[in-house]
Amino acid sequence: MMKYHKVILKPKKEDSLLRFHPWIFSGAIQSIEGKPEEGDLVEVYGSTGRFLAVGHCQIGSIAVRALSFTPATIDAGFWKERITKAYDLRKCLRLTGNDDNNNTYRLIHGEGDNLPGLIVDMYAHTAVMQAHSVGMHAARHAIAEALVAVLGAELKNIYYKSDATLPYKADLGNEDGYLYGGEIEDISVENGLKFHVDWIKGQKTGFFVDQRENRALLEYYAEGRSVLNMFCYTGGFSFYAMRGKARLVHSVDSSAKAISLTNKNVSLNFPDDPRHTAYADDAFKFLERMGHNYDLIILDPPAFAKHRNVLRNALQGYRKLNAIAFEKIQPGGILFTFSCSQVVSREDFRLAVFSAAAQSGRSVRILHQLTQPADHPVNIYHPEGEYLKGLVLYVE
Ligand code: SAH
Repeated sequence: MMKYHKVILKPKKEDSLLRFHPWIFSGAIQSIEGKPEEGDLVEVYGSTGRFLAVGHCQIGSIAVRALSFTPATIDAGFWKERITKAYDLRKCLRLTGNDDNNNTYRLIHGEGDNLPGLIVDMYAHTAVMQAHSVGMHAARHAIAEALVAVLGAELKNIYYKSDATLPYKADLGNEDGYLYGGEIEDISVENGLKFHVDWIKGQKTGFFVDQRENRALLEYYAEGRSVLNMFCYTGGFSFYAMRGKARLVHSVDSSAKAISLTNKNVSLNFPDDPRHTAYADDAFKFLERMGHNYDLIILDPPAFAKHRNVLRNALQGYRKLNAIAFEKIQPGGILFTFSCSQVVSREDFRLAVFSAAAQSGRSVRILHQLTQPADHPVNIYHPEGEYLKGLVLYVE
């Protein structure tokens, strides 16, 4: 068994770890033996000397992220075992890179797969790996080797993309690049629809894999409707709306790069289809200026709140945004509205949308309450992992 630096907790601070919550806050720590550096492995003990966990230490309010609640050496065998478990779950969900109809999925969802700080998204035969902690960054080569061992022929490339997600103060320099393979095969398929993924320059790992099922639901409602896909990014909801026989689809995003990717993706699936137009514009400006033209609106903004202290502003933002949609959507219209902020609870979000509806005075009914798909599983001991919230509303 490897020996790691020891972290001793204050009396009565072990409860959350005994309930398998993987975060140890700095305020819970009594003392640290030795001088672990950020990203080093540490063993965590209770005040009475009881072993609690092994994890990566980090600087900040979360001081340790637990990898194991039983004594463990974090070596090649450990990564292989955890990745195998994650992969087995995706097989159970019938998600695999060898499915020509759907080869886009999340293979590793951080705490949801008992690998805090690590995200891996699969685009056909390419894995895009993202570290959110220095510990996962330090382990990236070992993780890449384990991915190759577990996925076998399904995996041809691993691209590491963590420049924007690692703690800025750790000052690690930009290590983004291929850890394996490197052949560019950038078309992925989701529910039979194709799209280019730009994992090198795009946002997140290149695509928002978490909206797959919600996009499929939108397709169901699209027939004959005039659709506004606000915050479209690479156009995910738009091509589902088109396949669902929408009358017209307008995609809007403030990023010109996102709009050019949307146009590329729409032509990949529906070449020369006159129903689609994309606009590079600010959401609030577009919504203020537009008429009462749409009867299906998607609002999928970026996380308005990344930290708890800006929660109130974020809720105001959701209220304002949804209020314009309620004011302008045609009678009989359907609104798909989302929040991906982890710190905004389901109740908070619903309350913000409720206030917006009340402000418009329209009759609004909830048709569906949406969340993230099963390849973004929520660890029951880490409820913070539930981040995506959506409502589908019928507006009279
Ligand atoms: N719905 C998308 C994901 C949206 S991510 C999908 O299914 O893939 C949020 C998007 O909002 C990003 O592409 C970002 O460029 C865009 N964005 C951020 N601020 C904006 C603003 N003020 N107006 C319009 N778009 C904005």
